[in-house]
Amino acid sequence: MLTKLESDVQEILLTEKEIAEKVKELGEKITEDYRDRELVVVGVLKGAFLFLSDLIRHIKLPLSVDFVAISSYGDYTETTGVVKIIKDLDESIEGRHILIVEDIVDTGLTLDYLLRIIRARKPASVRVCALLDKPTRRRVEVDIHYKGFEIPDKFVVGYGLDFNQKYRNLPFVGVLKPDIYAGK
Ligand code: 5GP
Repeated sequence: MLTKLESDVQEILLTEKEIAEKVKELGEKITEDYRDRELVVVGVLKGAFLFLSDLIRHIKLPLSVDFVAISSYGDYTETTGVVKIIKDLDESIEGRHILIVEDIVDTGLTLDYLLRIIRARKPASVRVCALLDKPTRRRVEVDIHYKGFEIPDKFVVGYGLDFNQKYRNLPFVGVLKPDIYAGK
């Protein structure tokens, strides 16, 4: 039986199984690439929390986890390009290997801003791992070293991604029915 949350979804873009397989693959690749090194995995809140927690269980290396939270000013589907850090890292990252974990890269503005801040703190290296990429919407070029899936220009929810703070707990990634937005 469909739950209320599930019935708000018009189309499932990525199933739970597809996501799990991809996350495992990404974790194994990261493990191989960073062999003999120690990582600081930086999750971008809130959207990346679920992806990060699944991903690190496939990274067989010593690592620590830290989080940043970034706010973008704009309505629910459009960012204005104005971003700021609302929760900074707890640890110093100087001389360390940083893996930024993002849920989705859309215009690229959030990641571009975060990369500038992180690089200014002189880490040994920085790479980005993003579950989803919407390349058609890009306004700034950002290098996504580990990419899960490219998706079309649609507003998606589930697997950590929200609409008005809801739907993060859906185990798949899907597109909401238009009347959900209309009711906003
Ligand atoms: P960017 O700065 O690349 O435009 O946007 C990145 C952030 O916008 C993501 O971390 C995410 O919070 C939000 N975002 C972009 N596209 C979507 C989407 O399709 N669904 C949801 N729920 N959030 C999105």
